[in-house]
Amino acid sequence: MITVTLPDGSAKEVEHGAPVKAVAEAISPRLAEAALVAYVDDQLVDLTYPLTRDAAIRIVTSKNPEALEVYRHSTAHLLAAAVTALFPKVQCGIGPPIEDGFYYDFIVERPFVPEDLEAIEARMREIAARDYVYERQMWPRQEAIDFFAGRGEPLKVQLIEEKTAGQKEVSVYTIKDRDVFVDFCVGPHVPTSGRLKAFKLTATSNAYWKGDASNAPMQRVYGTAFFSQKQLDEHLARIEEAKKRDHRKLGRELDLFQLHQVSPGAVFWTPRGTTLYNTLVAFCQSRQKADFQEIKTPLLYSKTLWEQSGHWGKYRDNMFLVMNNETNEHDMSLKPMNCPSHHLYYATARRSYRELPLRLVTFDVLHRNELSGALSGLTRVRQFAQDDCHVYLRQDQIASEVKFLMDFILGHYEAFGLASSIKFATRPETRIGDDAMWDRAEAALRSALEATGKPYAIKEGDGAFYGPKIDFDVTDSLGRAWQLGTIQLDYAAPERFDLNYVGEDNAEHRAVVIHRAVCGSLERFIAILIEHFAGAFPLWLAPVQAIVLPIADRHADYAREAARVLDAAGLRAEVDERKEKVNYKIREAQLQKIPYMLVVGDREAAERAVAVRSRAKGDLGPRPLDQFVTDALAEVRAKALS
Ligand SMILES: [Zn+2]
Ligand SMILES: [Zn+2]
Repeated sequence: MITVTLPDGSAKEVEHGAPVKAVAEAISPRLAEAALVAYVDDQLVDLTYPLTRDAAIRIVTSKNPEALEVYRHSTAHLLAAAVTALFPKVQCGIGPPIEDGFYYDFIVERPFVPEDLEAIEARMREIAARDYVYERQMWPRQEAIDFFAGRGEPLKVQLIEEKTAGQKEVSVYTIKDRDVFVDFCVGPHVPTSGRLKAFKLTATSNAYWKGDASNAPMQRVYGTAFFSQKQLDEHLARIEEAKKRDHRKLGRELDLFQLHQVSPGAVFWTPRGTTLYNTLVAFCQSRQKADFQEIKTPLLYSKTLWEQSGHWGKYRDNMFLVMNNETNEHDMSLKPMNCPSHHLYYATARRSYRELPLRLVTFDVLHRNELSGALSGLTRVRQFAQDDCHVYLRQDQIASEVKFLMDFILGHYEAFGLASSIKFATRPETRIGDDAMWDRAEAALRSALEATGKPYAIKEGDGAFYGPKIDFDVTDSLGRAWQLGTIQLDYAAPERFDLNYVGEDNAEHRAVVIHRAVCGSLERFIAILIEHFAGAFPLWLAPVQAIVLPIADRHADYAREAARVLDAAGLRAEVDERKEKVNYKIREAQLQKIPYMLVVGDREAAERAVAVRSRAKGDLGPRPLDQFVTDALAEVRAKALS
């Protein structure tokens, strides 16, 4: 007999070699019914896994989030089984779970069409309904290689050769038997195909074996799976909503920005988009006015600066190098970040402890050489600006500064109704500075974070190459998470740039640097705002805040006058003077998501009034023009969200 320990600390005895499922059965028949996989010590295994030593056991059901990956991966096998049945000459690649579902890559004779996906999904449902067992079998390695070679699956042979070098046996999974489907996989999987209740194939795309374009082209089929049909339906509805809100689509419809192939990854902002952009920057500037100092620095630098900062060695592939016609070499670069220029600026003067913390901010244009294939809308660009700040401070100011910056950052997200969460990221594999420096930096930043009392998660190895950081994720109105702001502690830059201050003791001391961004890339932040608000920006942010709609030609003069009054009060107003019916103009303004539509006819012109229609609340009735101005200005000042 062997002894297993359960999560509640109790122990159970089972026979040597008994499957993990026996433990679930011994606890309760209901648990055995709900069980999908299990942890044996730290290893996630199938329920059929034989127990051969004392171990800690935790049964995993659909209530445990980690089961979803297993569930989706198992659904990917179901997909491969269906494709194999329908397309006999197919070769299977790999089928991992991903963020919102799973995919499987295939080499097929022709690309899949939408009807193929329907047929594949129907076959998947058949296989699921037959409730086949996912059976793990250990085969002699050579037998497995011969089997897949004989079936014309060289990719599987390659995977086995790469992943199981030195092993005598390899694990393969069958669904029922070898005739139905067999795949090389390390597992684990759900016990039977009948457990897969709610799945949907969502898309196909081109892919390459191992993601390398010099390898065989493949067809990737994407799908998603959930534990219940309700969860799946909600997910699909969210995807539909996300498509409607896609910032590239809304950017066109609301006339906010353009992209052109002659300048990939760089944005043309339209007049409306530029207003949106400038309003956001003005908001950032107004919040920073009291405690920060804004400066502008050059865009182009000699490589000596990047050598000093460490970017030349660690980051050069991401920089746009520029030909220097005095040396005939590409020894200059557009700045990919503002840090070194701020450090240079700090070092231009002798700094006193009284000036610290000194917070420099810059909204300059930055360039990063992203692969053209990775570029997308405003979220993956080559040219962008950040609300980039570097704080120069004393060691003993770190805790209070981190608290100050965190409150500043969280307040910014709150203004947009974005919920946020905090992560602490530690030293990465590629880094500068010795272990002692990292120990000191991680301890200092972490204790400053602890002192704020805010909850946070840990991301091991995700720090910047010069120091540990606190990252801020926001969740938008569709529940999607985006990584935005950062607070990074840097002991390396003060050494490299010789950044000092004169202390109370009149002696020179090393300064400490903190890098801080709130929006991150303004371009990406605007993309998030477009999708978060579905283009219906709050009044203070809307590029056009009110549109005046004359009912007939004879009301055009008054309409223009009303717009001038709004404009003079600091509101952004337009007039729609086209010879269209007013209902048509209202519909268009509504589609343009303009917060207020002000209809003017004989009565309004006579009484110096406007008939107010709100984008969100519909008809609000007539109001004196001055009253509307007062109300709208109050709404702008309050930065009201609804
Ligand atoms: Zn598998
Ligand atoms: Zn920086």
